[in-house]
Amino acid sequence: MAAQETYDCDSVSESSSESSSEFSENTFAHIELKEGNTYSSEKNFIFTVKKYAKQEGFQVRLGKSEKNSAGQIRKRTIICSREGSPGKTLNKRNRTSQRCNCQFTVRGSLNSSNGLWYLIFVCLEHNHSMVSESSRRFMPEERTIPIEVQERILLFRRAGCDVSTIRAILKEEFSDIVTWVYDDLYNFIYQKEEIKREFDSDDFVKELERFKSQDNEFCYEVLINPETNELQQAIWMFPEQKLNYCQFYDVVVFDNTYKTNRFGMPFGIFTGVNNYGQSVCFAGTIMCDETAESFLWTFNSFLKMVNNYSPKVFLTDEDQAIIKAVDLIFVPHGTKHALCLWHLMKNVVKNLNGTLGFKWAEFIKCFYQCLDKYDIDEFLEEWNMLKTKYPLASKYLLKMDKNLARWAPCYNRKLFMADMSTTGRGESMNSLMKGYMDSTVSLTKFLKAFESALDQRKEDKEFAKFRENNKSTALLTASPYERQASELLTQYALAKTRKQLLQCMSYKSEEIAR
Ligand SMILES: [Zn+2]
Repeated sequence: MAAQETYDCDSVSESSSESSSEFSENTFAHIELKEGNTYSSEKNFIFTVKKYAKQEGFQVRLGKSEKNSAGQIRKRTIICSREGSPGKTLNKRNRTSQRCNCQFTVRGSLNSSNGLWYLIFVCLEHNHSMVSESSRRFMPEERTIPIEVQERILLFRRAGCDVSTIRAILKEEFSDIVTWVYDDLYNFIYQKEEIKREFDSDDFVKELERFKSQDNEFCYEVLINPETNELQQAIWMFPEQKLNYCQFYDVVVFDNTYKTNRFGMPFGIFTGVNNYGQSVCFAGTIMCDETAESFLWTFNSFLKMVNNYSPKVFLTDEDQAIIKAVDLIFVPHGTKHALCLWHLMKNVVKNLNGTLGFKWAEFIKCFYQCLDKYDIDEFLEEWNMLKTKYPLASKYLLKMDKNLARWAPCYNRKLFMADMSTTGRGESMNSLMKGYMDSTVSLTKFLKAFESALDQRKEDKEFAKFRENNKSTALLTASPYERQASELLTQYALAKTRKQLLQCMSYKSEEIAR
């Protein structure tokens, strides 16, 4: 008899509702797996092993099976979900693997004379710890959503509820059985709604049109693929954003690091800082990919929306496609392109922290000292020294050489950066974005959430204004310059001015003969 070998890796996901009368009576009995145990069918064998795994606190995966000439499965191996080498199957999403070569294996075999399944091999050893009683509810097996609850979820969706609201309602309704985490609900809804995704992008364009019909000052541009009729790119600007841009276009940061895998499209924002020191968002954009062509379209559309008033300084991430597009679109309009130090430092840490190991602390200290150099020649001298002193880092540092004039502070010290190169700024924008990225599932709702986040920002500004109007300013110096500044500037800008005013008093100045 030619045994046919098949290998299936389907993770065990059938719901436990399949329980038949023969094993439902001892549901709570302690299960043991011993060679020689018998089961009425393969299904019963698998079910018992799954129950055992649940009882002990681990998960199983179906391993190899053998079929007889009639195509009937006659041998079945079940292994621990952590069997296998960690390198081979990196999880696509977070690049980690649960696998640790665990040896747990049980094998069942069909006895053709009596039709029973016999446990013929048992190895119950694990090389990892079991999931504790309190965390078992997070195991995938425990997180399948019952059919009746699935129907409730779809009903709530039709009524327009977002995922966190649905979860809150379900918790009220079925408190003790709600074990599904936010992602389970989200994935379930997303799978159901994916079929409608192409229509969703249509709806998104309609939503943009609707905003325009309500306020003619609202502007947007879309790029539709002529062949597939699908939305490829979009950019939009609310009237309030336009006003802000007219006032604060000195420094604009473009950040596209917000990955909206919820819609499968990268999302980017143009931001700046207002005279209260608050981050203000100028425009939002979504794009189907991150090629130079896509950035060209985005930046060109942005320029069109702001009547060719190009930003004075444009700060971005260190990305070749972005750099290329900025050089073609903004630079000819007199914009100075600079790389965001915040992003740059994030990349330096990411790329060199591990490589340098124990030398990292010393390196980063030298690196900061180098950044502090005021004079270009002095900077270059230190920078080149850094490359020879840390050969392990030199490859990455050489790559940074290409854009030196775009990021090294000594090249940009004459530029007004409005505090944008500091870390705190980037982080405050980050938390603002996260706020409205997490709350939305569909593209159309996303735009609505975007608008309400802008409203929130507007209110923050009004509040800052209110606080200032109710504060009187005591002058620190007798300088008429400070007096005038205190009448014109906001507290935020005044504090910055004062700092410089006081600093300049610590220098001695004298006239030099020509
Ligand atoms: Zn194991």
